[in-house]
Amino acid sequence: MSEQTLSPARANQITGQAARRRTFAVISHPDAGKSTLTEALALHAKVIGTAGATNGKSNRRETVSDWQQMEKDRGISISSAALQFSYRDAVINLLDTPGHADFSEDTYRVLAAVDCAVMLIDAAKGLETQTMKLFEVCRQRGLPIITVINKWDRPGLDALALMDEITERTGLLPMPLTWAVGIAGDFRGVWDLKQDRFVQFQRNNAGAQIALTEYFTPDQAAENLGDVWTEAVDEAGLVLDSVDDFDLEAFYAGKATPILFSSAALNFGVKELLDALVDYAPPAAARPDVDGGKRAVEAPFSGFVFKVQAGMNAAHRDHVAFIRVCSGVFERGMVVTQGRTGKSFATKYAQQVFGREREVIDEAFPGDVVGLVNASALRVGDSLFLESPVEFPAIPLFAPEHFQVARSKDPSRYKQFRRGIDQLEHEGVIQVLRSDLRGDQAPVLAAVGPMQFEVVEDRMFHDFNAPMRLERLPYSLARLTTPEAEPTLANVHGAEVLLRTDGEYLALFNDIWALRRVEKNNPDLLLVPIGTEHS
Ligand code: GDP
Repeated sequence: MSEQTLSPARANQITGQAARRRTFAVISHPDAGKSTLTEALALHAKVIGTAGATNGKSNRRETVSDWQQMEKDRGISISSAALQFSYRDAVINLLDTPGHADFSEDTYRVLAAVDCAVMLIDAAKGLETQTMKLFEVCRQRGLPIITVINKWDRPGLDALALMDEITERTGLLPMPLTWAVGIAGDFRGVWDLKQDRFVQFQRNNAGAQIALTEYFTPDQAAENLGDVWTEAVDEAGLVLDSVDDFDLEAFYAGKATPILFSSAALNFGVKELLDALVDYAPPAAARPDVDGGKRAVEAPFSGFVFKVQAGMNAAHRDHVAFIRVCSGVFERGMVVTQGRTGKSFATKYAQQVFGREREVIDEAFPGDVVGLVNASALRVGDSLFLESPVEFPAIPLFAPEHFQVARSKDPSRYKQFRRGIDQLEHEGVIQVLRSDLRGDQAPVLAAVGPMQFEVVEDRMFHDFNAPMRLERLPYSLARLTTPEAEPTLANVHGAEVLLRTDGEYLALFNDIWALRRVEKNNPDLLLVPIGTEHS
């Protein structure tokens, strides 16, 4: 086992590095501009010279975050990784979340690994279904949210109406850091409320480069813009009336959300977002453990696995476990303890991974993400540590809403089929349910979003050479239950009890009416909502 007794100077250095970290994810309904914004942020941080290099939409250049063939075929990003860059004195870790209307558990897991979320809203659409779902997950995790109203260069909703919608539907108090000057579709710039100046944007090469920006005093802005300026100031004033000042505590407590306006496509307002992240987003800090304590950032190394990915690189069929560093310093090659098994794990192959770009990393600090290659022993939720043991809270499994029976197409390949299903379950690609009645040959796969089934099918075929058939089940609702429910529900139409590999019994129901009927007829049965439905 490696040792990491830190000298006071080293501990100081780690505290300093943790304080520089801003680890966040952009969440949005698909098409709100997440990829475009990611690219624009990277452009600002000068990671890439011209925007367009990291986006995977078919009308753009090839993305670096598309790993699997399937992703390429569909032009969407399924996998998650982290982009790291420095900006001002901060180190920004932007974790990629899958960008598809279909939900997958990956998104939730990424949210377990970040300290803050940027909620991107399409100015023409307001809060959409997935925005609301993601917002709810953030609320449950107590994640602070920065809200960005995007696509302001296009006609859209009224800024004040958007503020009302945010307040009414999320309960968050909007605290503008910038306010759009010009209505949606006529985006002149923003009033930077902190510095009290007008930031004027001008298009530059269709957004492929950083926007041309000029700064003016409010008086100059009033003179140059007349009513357009006055209207912006009046509107922002109406919102500000309900906020005394920027309240960092309310933001951290998930009660208020800083607001910014942008056009990611034109690179307008992107620098302002970066500045807001550096100035206000929470740095990597002491992380709560399962015992009610906190692991200080300067304690010996610890972290947890928030995502496991296999088959990212067709050339080497590898497993990468993504670790969020919580304390100490990660040094490549060190040997850490895996909490769940008590075994040691050698971190010989540590990488920073973003899309196809990989870089070997030697050191990582709290807030950073490390990809460990050849990590098939690691599972989502595993804690890793040096010296003093620590266990971080499990990443909750989410309530599955889609269920399909899996069968091997070729009975002679049942062994491969079984191994593949087990592996994909370990990676957290899918939940697996079984019952004596259905038998081992026909496990039930349970997913949060239907695309998870496609990933399983694809991986079973390509990675395990075990083609399979899927058959949809009519269930749409699951509750945690006890083995006693099994005989009761065996005779009920539209319900069934299955055992999940983690030892939990799940009762599945066709719909809420089937559940209500069972509850009414069997008031003593234990039927507990799962995961996100808890609170
Ligand atoms: P994602 O699904 O959230 O990652 O969305 P994308 O970044 O792929 O953007 C979806 C579409 O909206 C693309 O055609 C983008 O070019 C476009 N888009 C993104 N941001 C803006 C913006 O600020 N203004 C305008 N007009 N279009 C945008």
